[in-house]
Amino acid sequence: MAKILVINCGSSSLKYEVYEMPERKSLGKGLVERIGEGVGVISQESAKGRYGEETPIPDHRRAMELVRKALTDGKAGIVASMDEIAAAGHRVVHGGEFYAESVVIDEKVLEVVDKCSELAPLHNPPNITGIREAVNLLGKKPQVAVFDTAFHQSLPPAAYLYGIPRELYDKYRIRRYGFHGTSHRYVAAEVLNMLGRSEGNTCLVSCHLGNGASVTAVKHGKSVDTSMGFTPLEGLVMGTRSGDVDPAVLLFLMKRGYDEAKLDKLLNKQSGMLGLSGVSNDMRDIEKAAAEGNKDAREALDVYAYRIRKYIGAYAANLPRTDAVVFTGGIGQNSVSTRAKICEGLEGIGIFLDRDRNEAVGRKAGIISADYSPTAIAVVITNEELQIAIDTYSLAFK
Ligand code: ADP
Repeated sequence: MAKILVINCGSSSLKYEVYEMPERKSLGKGLVERIGEGVGVISQESAKGRYGEETPIPDHRRAMELVRKALTDGKAGIVASMDEIAAAGHRVVHGGEFYAESVVIDEKVLEVVDKCSELAPLHNPPNITGIREAVNLLGKKPQVAVFDTAFHQSLPPAAYLYGIPRELYDKYRIRRYGFHGTSHRYVAAEVLNMLGRSEGNTCLVSCHLGNGASVTAVKHGKSVDTSMGFTPLEGLVMGTRSGDVDPAVLLFLMKRGYDEAKLDKLLNKQSGMLGLSGVSNDMRDIEKAAAEGNKDAREALDVYAYRIRKYIGAYAANLPRTDAVVFTGGIGQNSVSTRAKICEGLEGIGIFLDRDRNEAVGRKAGIISADYSPTAIAVVITNEELQIAIDTYSLAFK
């Protein structure tokens, strides 16, 4: 038995959770917010109760000190002392072409992750900071890096090369990397349990639909294509991200005064469901507005479902067979109507939703396809933190 601390460190926030392994049991979790923004806050929940504190959190070192304080709090703490934590697992966004699997962290790994910062300038630097602070807290205990990109390193060149001069790949490593790999890997394994199937005999399409969203084709346990690319901007229409657009649109706008910063904001923060609906980036608000007759909201929902359907079709065409389509993420797990809308029209390729089952499964995990559907449709509750704990436990204690 070992207690694993899972850490997801961003530039101004730090999420953490403690798992007891191999039982896969969460003992509690917490969040530090507004690091470096004057007064910050830490909140933690466990079976023993809630812990919260508002205090200046100037940097990640202070944030990690607060995590230690919350974890070991006499009343609402998760462990009696930090000695109980056996290892830590870290979410790291970009592993470039260097890591196809999770890895035990040493100085060499940190150097490589730092090198990959060029590809994920907003994410990798705080990930590295989180690792350094965890080493400071846990000393020589093993620490493991789990990369969002690693699962997709199995993409073949046909799926990862863009149709641009090869020298740009050779020089800058411009290619499709894909993200959400930890979630897609977790749900791909979970759905095998649900369906009683083996990895070597199963091909599936996994749809992670949250604020960010991506679809992945999984053949015999390996990712063979995914909708996000060089950055998490490509692919589906997301909460505030555009997904696929003709790159010439950007050239058109540049001629009309849009500079890099403006285009970045436009495509990452002002587009997607927010930009299309004019209502919100939150699916619940858009569904409500559409039900009340808002045309832009209704069209945004149509675009959303259509784009996902297009990707499912494209991946089905490139898999030998599609045994299952899996829905996960905040929208995939919760929005019964979005799942129904996506599946409308997929019958032609053997994907038949059972509407009553879809309603009955609601926000739980379960099978929502008709008995006669050649392709099963499943809802799986994703858990990236648990996958990080699983990897950390197996790498640190094998
Ligand atoms: P993140 O990508 O930030 O982890 P989540 O996976 O939590 O996000 O997904 C957030 C999305 O899930 C939001 O768009 C939210 O509207 C949507 N969502 C959550 N609950 C529901 C619900 N009951 N019905 C529809 N959408 C929901």
